[in-house]
Amino acid sequence: MTAFDLTPPSDVQRRDLTAGLSRDERRVLLEHGTEAAFCGVFLDNKKHGVYTCRFCGLPLFRSSAKFDSGTGWPSFFQPYHDAHIRLIRDTSHGMLRTEEVCARCGSHLGHVFQDGPRPTGDRHCLNSVSLGFTEQGHALPDLLGRGAPEGQPDTGD
Ligand SMILES: [Zn+2]
Repeated sequence: MTAFDLTPPSDVQRRDLTAGLSRDERRVLLEHGTEAAFCGVFLDNKKHGVYTCRFCGLPLFRSSAKFDSGTGWPSFFQPYHDAHIRLIRDTSHGMLRTEEVCARCGSHLGHVFQDGPRPTGDRHCLNSVSLGFTEQGHALPDLLGRGAPEGQPDTGD
């Protein structure tokens, strides 16, 4: 069980959050676009902390699960919590892939492939614009006004 409230944002919250996005963020998060390789701001981020959903603030990945995949997109071998991402079969562009979206708000995050490193063998290939970042020791974003989850919010890795 995750300590986070996974109730989707209300229509009003969704409208307000959408208004705060840049054109590129909207294109990726809401229209399933992909950013150009090697351009994302988080590709070379080596800081310790937690990567969150750019749209709703839900923690998605820990820096300790980040690895250099050589693909040009930030890559992780394991999510913050399995319940925080939702996998969707994606047959667009003539390929069979697994898309991943935020389990709370449904925003497009990237794709997951089965050629990642141990221990999971998964490679979560993310768009930087789909992510926010909270450095270790700082408070997680609370974009939906849900308050801190029960217990200490865990931004460590
Ligand atoms: Zn989200």
